[in-house]
Amino acid sequence: AAAEVKRVGCVGMCHQTPLVETIRGDGTSRLYCHVQPEQVEEIVLQNYQPTGIVSRMRTSWSKMVAELYGRENGAESSVEAVSPKEGPVCEFLGPQKRIATESCGDIDPLDLSEYQRHEGFVALKRCLDELSSDEVISEIERSGLRGRGGAGFPSAIKWRTVRGANAETKYVICNGDEGDPGAFMDRMILESFPYRVIEGMAIAAVAVGAHQGYFYIRAEYPLAVERIRHAIAECEAAGLLGDRILGSDYSLKFSVKEGAGAFICGEETALIHSIEGGRGTPRLRPPFPAESGLWEKPTLINNVETLSLVPWILRHGGDEFAKFGTETSKGTKVFALAGKIQRGGLIEVPMGVTIRQIVNQIGGGVANGRRFKAVQIGGPSGGCVPASLADTPVDYEALSSVGAIMGSGGMVVLDDTDCMVDIARYFLRFTQDQSCGKCTYCRIGTKRMLEILERICGGEAKKGDLDLLEDLCQSVSSGSLCGLGKTAPNPVLSTLRYFREEYEAHLAGHC
Ligand code: SF4
Repeated sequence: AAAEVKRVGCVGMCHQTPLVETIRGDGTSRLYCHVQPEQVEEIVLQNYQPTGIVSRMRTSWSKMVAELYGRENGAESSVEAVSPKEGPVCEFLGPQKRIATESCGDIDPLDLSEYQRHEGFVALKRCLDELSSDEVISEIERSGLRGRGGAGFPSAIKWRTVRGANAETKYVICNGDEGDPGAFMDRMILESFPYRVIEGMAIAAVAVGAHQGYFYIRAEYPLAVERIRHAIAECEAAGLLGDRILGSDYSLKFSVKEGAGAFICGEETALIHSIEGGRGTPRLRPPFPAESGLWEKPTLINNVETLSLVPWILRHGGDEFAKFGTETSKGTKVFALAGKIQRGGLIEVPMGVTIRQIVNQIGGGVANGRRFKAVQIGGPSGGCVPASLADTPVDYEALSSVGAIMGSGGMVVLDDTDCMVDIARYFLRFTQDQSCGKCTYCRIGTKRMLEILERICGGEAKKGDLDLLEDLCQSVSSGSLCGLGKTAPNPVLSTLRYFREEYEAHLAGHC
């Protein structure tokens, strides 16, 4: 059987992979989940549509199926298609809004002409030909876009600061050093939509007046590195990067720098040190990178997801983007939904949906019939939101009011078999391990905190350990230089706030 095979980017349904979608000649499509190599042939046969006077072929086809699979013509197939219009797939995809992940499942990540057929580089062209830098930045401001890497800083303020900086040389950097346990949003976007991220970064560069850009991508993402390198080369060959981009008089060059796997290099100033060839350690701010960044030049650093939203905003207008979301958190957010959930994967939802909607509707609820206990949001800097607060909307301020943070978008669902002290210990072990060691509170304070958690979990807690742990949380948070240390206590603080009885049960020797 013959069929044209096309590889597409991630559609987010990790719980259904390997996933195959068939498109018949009449345009109807079918989805096949958990496909095994030996089923592929049968899938092709199922979708074979003879046309015209080919009844003889139909017959031989049926015979072939019987021969191939040892079944009589008409016998029931072992491969079943699922409907994208109803059932679990529909529940998973239905509430989502695709902006950063627009056209997922449709386009070949490496096919530049296909990206262009989907309005790729239309926004960049407009920024070069029709809009002034101020107009581009105003559009970003109207959209309400905030940084998707964690802190949620308004993007337009950053862009305007770099634009306004008085320097001949400026830089743009795409921060692809995603390192939170359980998070893989940036990886998916880089691998599946390399041209979109390049276009977003090119728009940012033109808006702020930068002619050189760097993709900083962790080396543990080799496919992302490979695809971005390939996409940059394709763009250079097509005149979308290089001298006189898109026929304008603007020159723009991008290159890739691979991170060596230190979590702290996701911090802007550490990332800059790393590109400069130094050790990836943060420094005091100010000056902010927007004023003095890479090689002491004004530098715009945006995260992968933030940049991937930019082309859509410029094509549709900031006001359209701002129609999604809440008063202070506009647009969409990509989350990596993982843990004890029926349907895990990558989702892009409008801001303002509740945690409960994500867990129950999109995720299909907690797996194995267990009770939904909490969601850990925001990775090692984030916190645990208990099921009783699951109606909290996905919104920067709402999440921080309950002790979590949006973070980069890791969302780990926990059930009633999970020990919350153990969860706190897990995340603290991670931050302790990743501390760059520059400041004492972070280097030593997290170590002492971890020792206490190990003692509590091991049934060897000493009198006063809980008080000491709480004291250390405050000291580490206030005495650390960068976000890693300042937020390291969050998983401990949020579990102490909502699940203190579990700490006390450990102390009393009940578990
Ligand atoms: Fe390094 Fe921690 Fe200090 Fe940040 S807070 S600079 S990670 S020691």
